[in-house]
Amino acid sequence: MKRILIVAATSGYQTRMFADAARRLGVAPVLATDRCHVLEDPWGDQAIPVRFDDPYSAAETIAQAGPFDGIVAVADRPTLIAALAAAKLGMPYNSPASVEAARNKFLARQRFKAAGLPVPRFFRVPLDRDPAETAALSPYPCVLKPLGLAASRGVIRANNPAEFVAAFRRIETLLARPEILMMREEQNHYIQVESFIEGKEYSLEGVLTDGRLRTLAVFEKPDPLDGPFFEETIYITPPQAPQSALVAATEKAIRALGLTRGPVHAELRCDGREAWVLEVAARPIGGLCAKALRFRGGMTLEELLLRHAAGEDVSRIEREEGSSGVMMIPIDQGGVYEGVEGLETALLTPGVEEIDITAKVGQKLEPLPEGASYLGFIFSRGSAPADVERSLREALAKLRFQVAGTLPVMR
Ligand code: ADP
Repeated sequence: MKRILIVAATSGYQTRMFADAARRLGVAPVLATDRCHVLEDPWGDQAIPVRFDDPYSAAETIAQAGPFDGIVAVADRPTLIAALAAAKLGMPYNSPASVEAARNKFLARQRFKAAGLPVPRFFRVPLDRDPAETAALSPYPCVLKPLGLAASRGVIRANNPAEFVAAFRRIETLLARPEILMMREEQNHYIQVESFIEGKEYSLEGVLTDGRLRTLAVFEKPDPLDGPFFEETIYITPPQAPQSALVAATEKAIRALGLTRGPVHAELRCDGREAWVLEVAARPIGGLCAKALRFRGGMTLEELLLRHAAGEDVSRIEREEGSSGVMMIPIDQGGVYEGVEGLETALLTPGVEEIDITAKVGQKLEPLPEGASYLGFIFSRGSAPADVERSLREALAKLRFQVAGTLPVMR
């Protein structure tokens, strides 16, 4: 039986989806994670405990557990450990330098600029610098962001120097949280400033073989993302606009970073004239969103990526016909999650296939820009993108979330 190494930061849904897909495929998943103590041993006794704050020793530990027939990294931090382990084992995977650049917003921008891609004005500011001085040098509107967080966490728009200083202080406080300090990441000592890129936003899901991109899907984000915070809500595929410029820009960004193998998830903005790559991550789309993708014959994204990791040719696998979308249900207000009403009615919305409420009763909810989670996910399929979008919005409108200390959230 083939052994596929899965380096994952959490024991969450996505990791379980890879485990299930591996079982269906008949390959043995070997999990390497720094969360072994919280796993209910869903993988048997094979999990490799590693420390993500020490990628070099983590890679050494993993290499000793080899050989493997393939390698998949499920989130940003694991990509570096996966790359270091692959280098030790002599396996085809992204180089450590390429994934390091992909997961560092400053390095990525430098690489994009050097390769001639359009980039906003950008610079990074050490946290100990006086923000008022820097505010005077910044373009406006601009976006301030941490270099190494994900899911729009800590990303804030500022329209003037006063908003700049407030945003800087807010991100500084976020980066001083124990769970972030524990990561011991050098890049968390900076804040990046970028001029604001106008336009509509898209994401691209793909897989690389020897540096060649196979685009699996392009998603359109129909809700405007103009700030001050950048909450993801709806993703719909296929997009209404032509995809070729988005694919070409992503290919250039991939070459600029030097990524060569495995899944990529790119975020782009299109201002009507050109496509601006915000980032290319060397991992699949996060959370449960991958469920919005299904391939002919019912294959899931996890299964496709495991097949690819094991060396199979996936170049002819096509996404299913029709349109599909996901609504990431944002947390609008902080408090303690108590429950949801209207789930049965929302599920009856035509086109809606599934609603996964991932918030747990008693869980503390925190909205963006500090928070990093959603209340849940709504999935819809239909023949046209507009139908899918309507279904998602209708279903969301039927849900009433109870959050302690607040009135029920009416959407
Ligand atoms: P993350 O990795 O946390 O998702 P991103 O850099 O992709 O961070 O930023 C998150 C979101 O913030 C983007 O999807 C986009 O909507 C917005 N954003 C980030 N940078 C810019 C920018 N320079 N101009 C306009 N919007 C931006």
